[in-house]
Amino acid sequence: MSAPIWRHSPNFGPRRNGARPQLVVLHYTAMDDPAEVLARLCDPSTSVSAHYVIGRDGTIWQLVADANRAWHAGQGGWLGVEDVNSRSLGIELVNTGCEPFSAPQMHALSQLMRVLMTRWSIAPVDVIGHSDMAPERKDDPGPRFDWRRLAREGYALWPEGLGADRPLDASLDRIGYPPGPGAQRLAAFRARFLPAASGPECVEDRRRAEAVATGFYRARGIARPGY
Ligand SMILES: [Zn+2]
Repeated sequence: MSAPIWRHSPNFGPRRNGARPQLVVLHYTAMDDPAEVLARLCDPSTSVSAHYVIGRDGTIWQLVADANRAWHAGQGGWLGVEDVNSRSLGIELVNTGCEPFSAPQMHALSQLMRVLMTRWSIAPVDVIGHSDMAPERKDDPGPRFDWRRLAREGYALWPEGLGADRPLDASLDRIGYPPGPGAQRLAAFRARFLPAASGPECVEDRRRAEAVATGFYRARGIARPGY
C-alpha cells in the first residue's frame, strides 16, 4: 500500500482514559465529491472528522493520527461501550449511499485494513459499520457495502447460514447492538447480514441473528450465546 496522503484535520482530541483503538468503524460519506468531503472533515466549524478517507479511485487520505480520537462515531454504543470514538478508528468511503462501492476503493480498503488490524491487533469481529453502533441515527455503510467480501479477506466477520429460532432481541444484544427501538435494530442488522430482507420481523431474521451471535461469540472466545 502506498502511504496515505496527509490532510490534517483540526477536529480531534486525545483518546479518553488511555483508550487504544480496538474497533474499526466503517462509514460512507453520503457526499459525492472527495474535495468537499475533505473540506468538511477539516472544517473546525463542523466538529466532525475521521482517521481515513478513501476515494472511489482508491486514493487514501489520512486526516487524524491513529493515536488520537477522531470525531466520526457520535452517540451510540457497541458491546456496552458508549465512547466509541475513544476506542475506534474511523474510515470514510466516498459513496453517496445509493451506488456500488468501486473495485479500486474496496481494494484500497482491504490494504488499509490489513495495515491497521496488524498495527493495533484488531480482530475481524471488531470491525463494524456506523449503523451497527448507532441504528437509531445512521444507515452507513448501507446494504450496498460488501461485508461478505471483506470477511472472506479476513477483515470482518460475516458468519454464514442460519441458526435456531431464538428471540431476536437477545441475539442482537449478544452481537453487540446497543439498546433502542426494535425496528431500527432490525434494519441495521439486515443491512449488514441479510441485505435482501424487508417487511416485519420473520423467522429468517431470528435464525440469521442467532447464527451471527454464535459466530461472534466463538470469535470472542465465548463458547456459545446463553439464552
Ligand atoms: Zn457514518
